[in-house]
Amino acid sequence: APPKPLLEPPSGLRVSFEFFPPKTEKMQEALWQSIHRLAPLDPAFVSVTYGAGGSTRERTHATVTAIQAETGIPAAAHLTCVAATREEIDAVARAYWDAGIRHIVALRGDPPPRPDGTGGLGGTGYQPHPGGYAYAADLVAGLKRVADFEISVACFPEVHPEARSAEDDLDNLRRKVDAGACRAISQFFFDPDAFLRFRDKAAARGIDIPLVPGVMPIMNFAKAVEMGGKCNCAVPAWMTDLFEGLDETPETRQLVAATVAVEQCRYLEREGVKQFHFYTLNRAELTVAICHMLGVRAKRPPAA
Ligand code: FAD
Repeated sequence: APPKPLLEPPSGLRVSFEFFPPKTEKMQEALWQSIHRLAPLDPAFVSVTYGAGGSTRERTHATVTAIQAETGIPAAAHLTCVAATREEIDAVARAYWDAGIRHIVALRGDPPPRPDGTGGLGGTGYQPHPGGYAYAADLVAGLKRVADFEISVACFPEVHPEARSAEDDLDNLRRKVDAGACRAISQFFFDPDAFLRFRDKAAARGIDIPLVPGVMPIMNFAKAVEMGGKCNCAVPAWMTDLFEGLDETPETRQLVAATVAVEQCRYLEREGVKQFHFYTLNRAELTVAICHMLGVRAKRPPAA
C-alpha cells in the first residue's frame, strides 16, 4: 500500500489512562469530571495508583471499584510491596478479586519521603519489609498464587535509578515476565528514541510482552523536569527550549504541550507502537486533545 500522508492521524491505536485516588471532595469532583470526559474514548483499561507506603489502600480500592462499576471499563489497581507483610498484601489482592477487579499493576513502590524530604519518588533508601515481598517480581509471583490476575509491571527505558546496571534492570524485567506479568508500562520519558532503544534491548533479552510507553502530558514544565530528575528521565535541550518563556501563559503552554506529546506518540507509532498509557494526573484536557489528534475518538455516548 502507498505510505499514508504524514499528517493523516493514525488508526487503530489503543490507550489507557492512569488516575490517582482523590484526597478531598474537590479532588473527587475533578477526578470524576475527568473520567466522564475520558471514558467515552473507550480505553483498553484505566488504572488507579497506590500511595507511597500503602497510604491509599482504602481510597485506591474505593476508586478502582467505583470506576469499573460506573463506566464498565476494566479497571486495574496498582499495588506495592512497601511496608506490608505478604499476608497483608495477599489480603488486599483477594479483596480486589472478590470485588471483580482482575488486573493489578504490580510494583515495588518507593519508601515514603522522610521528614527531611529525602527518599520518596525515585526510590532511594528502599528496604524490603522483613515479612514482605522484596521486589516487584516477588509480588507478581505472590499475586499469581492468590488468583489468576492479569498483571502489568513497570519498566524503565532510561534505567531505574537504583539498578546496578542497565543489564541488571533488564534481567529484573525478565524475572517479572517469567513470574507472570503480561504487559510492562514504562516510566515517562521525553526522548522517544530512549524508548525505542530500550524496546530493542528488551527484545534481544527475549522479553516478548507488550511494552507500553507511559506518556506524561506536560502541565507544568518545571515540575516535569523535577520529577524527571528523580527518575532518571533526561530532558532534551530542544524541549527546554520549547517551553522557555511560557511560564506566564498557561494556554499557550498547553497548546505546546499537546503538540509535543502528539509528535512523540506519532514518532513512536511510525515505529510500530500501537498502545499508549497516559499519566493523566486526574486532568482530562490535554489527554483528550492528544488522543483526538492520534485518531482516538469517542466510541461510547458521553455520560450525562
Ligand atoms: P522492581 O521491579 O522491584 O525494581 C526496583 C529496583 O530494584 C530496580 O532498580 C531493579 O533493578 C532492582 N532489583 C530488582 N530485583 C532485585 C534484586 N533481587 N536484587 C537487587 N536489586 C533488584 N509507585 C507507587 O508507590 N505507587 C504506584 O501506584 C506506582 N505506580 C507506578 C506505575 C508505573 C507505570 C511506573 C513506571 C511506576 C510506578 N510507581 C508507583 C513507582 C515505582 O514503585 C518505583 O519506580 C519503584 O522505585 C520501582 O518499582 P518497580 O516495580 O519497577 O520495582
